[in-house]
Amino acid sequence: MNNMSKSEQANAPLRTHRCGEVSEALVGRTISVAGWAARVRNLGGVVFVDLRDRYGELQVVCEDGAPLALAADFKLESVLGFTGEVRRRPEGMVNPDKASGAVELVARSAVVLNGCAPLPFQLDQADRAGEELRLKYRYIHLRSPAMLRNLEIRHRAAQAARRYLSGLDFLEVETPLLIRTTPEGARDYVVPSRIHHGQFYALPQSPQLYKQILMASGIDRYFQLARCLRDEDLRKDRQPEHTQIDLEMSFCSENEVYGIVEQMMATIFAETIGVQLPTPFPRISYDDAMDLYGSDKPDLRFGNPMHKVDDLVPGCGFKVFEDALSSGGTVRCLCAPGLAAWSRKQVDELEQVARKHGAFGLARTKVTATGVDTGIAKFLSPEFAAALTERTGAREGDLLLFIAGEKDMARSALGAVRLEAAARADWIPPDSWALAWVRNFPLFEADGQGGWTACHHMFTQPRPEDLDSLEEDPGAARAQLYDLVCNGVELGSGSIRIHQRELQEQVFRIVGMDRQEYLAKFGFFLDALGFGAPPHGGIALGLDRIVMLLTGSPSLREVIAFPKTTLAASPLDGSPGPISASQLEELHLDILPQREDKAADGKSVPGDS
Ligand code: ASP
Repeated sequence: MNNMSKSEQANAPLRTHRCGEVSEALVGRTISVAGWAARVRNLGGVVFVDLRDRYGELQVVCEDGAPLALAADFKLESVLGFTGEVRRRPEGMVNPDKASGAVELVARSAVVLNGCAPLPFQLDQADRAGEELRLKYRYIHLRSPAMLRNLEIRHRAAQAARRYLSGLDFLEVETPLLIRTTPEGARDYVVPSRIHHGQFYALPQSPQLYKQILMASGIDRYFQLARCLRDEDLRKDRQPEHTQIDLEMSFCSENEVYGIVEQMMATIFAETIGVQLPTPFPRISYDDAMDLYGSDKPDLRFGNPMHKVDDLVPGCGFKVFEDALSSGGTVRCLCAPGLAAWSRKQVDELEQVARKHGAFGLARTKVTATGVDTGIAKFLSPEFAAALTERTGAREGDLLLFIAGEKDMARSALGAVRLEAAARADWIPPDSWALAWVRNFPLFEADGQGGWTACHHMFTQPRPEDLDSLEEDPGAARAQLYDLVCNGVELGSGSIRIHQRELQEQVFRIVGMDRQEYLAKFGFFLDALGFGAPPHGGIALGLDRIVMLLTGSPSLREVIAFPKTTLAASPLDGSPGPISASQLEELHLDILPQREDKAADGKSVPGDS
């Protein structure tokens, strides 16, 4: 290369082959490769370079001439180009773990295509660098094979969804980013209008209203890999921007949505990680999920459900249980197989989990060959003890754990204990996948101020049997609302929608809006329903969450190319940042001085790594 004229050099191909694809088939051939110096080993008269590109690594040997002379400039992560001959590696030097591990390139010419400044962290030690630093130099971290693999799986998942849905006549339609507010329960990101003084757009929390309007437009089947923006409270592993596989269908039943989503998920799993998911997925009602697992996103990779024992409690002899019942509460029991062998300290740690969820304590007793023993056993009547073991199927060596008290607390606290015990006692089979539908959620929940809010969103259709009593007893109404869960993680929510204007207005009133307010906020949407919107329903699944599960990543940030910190900032480009005085003026904005109690302290959210 070095003997070429400048214009010849500019036109010569920088590479004829990719590093990771050089194999024994090329032995004896002269090729050109280019990539990053992943490792440089200078042994005096010979320098070995592991040259890396997206497709893998190739060992390059600089043993004489210009390449050896230039080798002093080979900084880690600098960009190098080599031309040379492929040869078989000497006996004993073969690396069977790499596609190109049986060969090496003997460099005849070398060029430094770009240098690299001293690295903020070594690529193979990125995990030890702080999150801020890793995000600031994200492009360096993204060069690592693990991060590349995450992006590749994300790409394959997105492609699989697109291909599958397109094959079923779903039309990919982009909906606007500058809209009026969408009520998904979070705060909106807002964009001031330059042209309309004092007016603002909102960035979509989801395309909910637009996708419903597309049904009114006769599109019949819509999907979009939609960016959703929510200004949510800071929490560990939340991202202000996320991507949904968003879809909507006309004239569909709940079952039809399930069928389509199940096959789509099966396609995604097969095409990304080669796992064949059994379909259909189990379905469980919200009430059963709460009763059996204490969660609306139950982890079904293992069994060990909780048991309600209220009917056995009267006369059981244990005052704590009887009092809980007589004050309107409940007693729930978890049979923990084999945990009788645990120390008191270990069970006390489970009790801490229960307390965090509002429980007063975690009552316990061991099951022995002769029945229950230790803990609360001394208080229990023999009849109650016998009925308990029968109800729970407890066997010798098991531990029975109880929480008594108010229903919602008791279920969710014991559900949390179940998950903690599963993690500590290895109840979860490795590499297992448990997808399920949770359905029949309540339509409304009490807002704590005597009113009602929608459990999911205000566009969800009540079950037909609850329509007549909707206004008298909103708390009893169930919704045609469903969540897809996987391994205890909620992947997405959807519903059959309200498609008639009158019912939609009624729901707006139940959640406390008067006519004037809902017409101002949703008049355009009510109009669309009123002009012949078909019955319709849909769902949105979190692509980031799906990819996080598929790749086994510990955080959403591992599967998003350019994520934000937990303080919703980007160390890479320094956003958010100030704008100029003239921009502010154009937007008719004035910045108030910062209130002291509102100042962000610049630190990460507790628990963030
Ligand atoms: N728009 C909803 C959400 O973002 C999903 C849906 O109901 O389709 O959660």
